[in-house]
Amino acid sequence: MTADLHTHSTASDGTFTPTELVEAAHSLGISLLALTDHDTTAGISEALAAARRLGMGFLPGVELSAEGPPGKCHLLGLGIDPNYPRLIETLRQLSQNRRERNLKIIGRLNALGITITMEDVLAHAPQGANIGRPHFAATLVALGAVADTKEAFARYLGDEAAANVEKETLSPAEAIALVHEAGGLCFLAHPGLLRRSQHETHESRVRTLTALGLDGIEAYYSSYTPANEAFFLRLAEKLGLLVTGGSDFHGANKPDVPLGVVRDGQPLELTLLPSRLRALAVA
Ligand code: AMP
Ligand code: MN
Ligand code: MN
Ligand code: MN
Repeated sequence: MTADLHTHSTASDGTFTPTELVEAAHSLGISLLALTDHDTTAGISEALAAARRLGMGFLPGVELSAEGPPGKCHLLGLGIDPNYPRLIETLRQLSQNRRERNLKIIGRLNALGITITMEDVLAHAPQGANIGRPHFAATLVALGAVADTKEAFARYLGDEAAANVEKETLSPAEAIALVHEAGGLCFLAHPGLLRRSQHETHESRVRTLTALGLDGIEAYYSSYTPANEAFFLRLAEKLGLLVTGGSDFHGANKPDVPLGVVRDGQPLELTLLPSRLRALAVA
């Protein structure tokens, strides 16, 4: 019995449709899957229907970008009610913010001498996707402006690169409260990848988020070494936090990250996940 509680579909920046994702997970023998698209739950109902059809455990989820005290982070809401009105309304507003940001990114790329329009990006993205920088990267590759995604981020789209525009997000406190209101548990995604300020440690950052109501951390993650994993498991135990784990599968948008591979090239055994989290499974 294995689980993967961090995956993306074509509803955000993955390349598998929700149905394809669930079918792929099922054929790998995964017994509990969470769909955690960036700032959208648009893929959940399709994924849930596929999971029900295949008799596979499913957790509705979302990966919220957050910024503000105590800094930038990604927060996973797991076991949320995807139809909770204030969640839907907040995600709608975040999509609107993204649309405004996307136009600014186009403006910056044009100013840098690249001929690209929003229509180009939409034409290279799945129908209805919550458009973000990975879609811009794919479009730049398709237009021949760069050789690959890596070059697209290095030259234009990366956090420090010339065409990046910061997106408006929730604060961590708002994101955690929203996940709770929607009935879910809130976890800090990939804490090992956190960019911390000089005086911060992983522990101090997690402590601050814990004071804001964080339920747990992603202690199992595809890019972690066994030492990273051991560190975050110890930290969770020390602070009385739950743990979760996932691959962060994006299909062809992150070709080095296979579905279901979470622990040093291995799947995540379901029994390593806390019962409070497993209890939120539907389907
Ligand atoms: P956005 O939400 O539009 O800011 O896009 C963020 C997404 O871009 C992340 O979730 C990653 O999937 C992807 N991303 C960010 N930085 C890089 C990078 N340097 N190389 C490849 N993908 C990246
Ligand atoms: Mn992504
Ligand atoms: Mn993330
Ligand atoms: Mn992710």
